[in-house]
Amino acid sequence: MSLLSISSVSKTYGRDARALIDVSLVVPAGARTAIVGPSGSGKTTLLKLIAGFERPDAGRITLEGAVLAGEGVHVPAHKRGIGIVSQDGALFPHLTVGENIGFGLPKRQDGRDRRIAALMAMVELDADMLSRRPHQLSGGQQQRVALARALALEPRLMLLDEPFSALDTGLRDTMRRTVSRILAASGTTSILVTHDQGEALSFADHVAVFREGRLVQAGSPQSLYRCPADRQTALFLGDAVLLEATVAAGQAETVLGSIPVGSTDKASTGTASTSLVMLRPEQLRIRWLGLGEADLVKGARARVLDSEFGGGLCRLTVEVGEGPARTVLDLRVSGFDVAAPGETVAIEVVGQGHVLPA
Ligand code: ADP
Ligand code: MG
Repeated sequence: MSLLSISSVSKTYGRDARALIDVSLVVPAGARTAIVGPSGSGKTTLLKLIAGFERPDAGRITLEGAVLAGEGVHVPAHKRGIGIVSQDGALFPHLTVGENIGFGLPKRQDGRDRRIAALMAMVELDADMLSRRPHQLSGGQQQRVALARALALEPRLMLLDEPFSALDTGLRDTMRRTVSRILAASGTTSILVTHDQGEALSFADHVAVFREGRLVQAGSPQSLYRCPADRQTALFLGDAVLLEATVAAGQAETVLGSIPVGSTDKASTGTASTSLVMLRPEQLRIRWLGLGEADLVKGARARVLDSEFGGGLCRLTVEVGEGPARTVLDLRVSGFDVAAPGETVAIEVVGQGHVLPA
């Protein structure tokens, strides 16, 4: 069941800054949705429209079937029942942690202190931090307070605008997992906005990719990663190996051999057509042919042009194919057995390729 529905929403700032163009998106109840796109793609604008801080020029936004914006309606932000956590947490600096968390709760409500304590526990903050002020907390702790403050109001929907981007890398991953767990445990439907595709793919059940104000593609993290709508999305969501191919009857003929491809219109037509086939780097099994067992190893042969040691994950630049078919590929291999320039490796493809539109 959908909780939030966005239909044909557009937003232009001033005369010609088109921030969102005809965006339609459905957010399922209870799910975690990620909106991912490069800076300036309209992500924050969409959150502002949902929260009620901006008005759409066209289109309609509904929550649980009721119109929030559009059709002459504009429900004020504080009446929408939507929680927000922003990049910097935006805590009140002069209030304690407890006062920040309890800010929206009625002052003389029974059990108020117990509720604040429960929220502290929920976001995994020690009770002895209750009387601290925001500047006495780490970035990650401040974000937990911001989350607790938003959860205190039991929002119907939680919006998170790049809430981890100000944190260090290690802490960012930990916080992402913590927040994901807390939202799942409280059953809160949430939308995370991020420019980090790894964060989007690991946080969400449902991902929407934005580019230049438009929704490019939406779906499960797995389907987007494996079957991106176009080349740009493929490269935005991760490293990709792109191969020119002749595609017919579910098979792509490439410089790495014949690769099965998923059923797209193109792949299933009888007539062969030239296309671009995408593989993710982890679909390539790369083996070094240095031990005299070369005849036994399956896969296309590639000459190593360059290798760069990088610890657990190393880069290998290889060329495969001859003459006009010669293709240079950038690959990733484990640091355990990196081949040197001039050596030969075998490349075997695992799983299906994905045909990209020309
Ligand atoms: P994102 O969050 O993906 O980085 P934004 O929604 O903040 O993108 O911005 C989308 C576009 O709208 C950008 O080109 C930005 O410059 C423009 N924009 C955002 N806010 C305003 C504003 N208040 N006035 C004018 N232009 C704006
Ligand atoms: Mg933004």
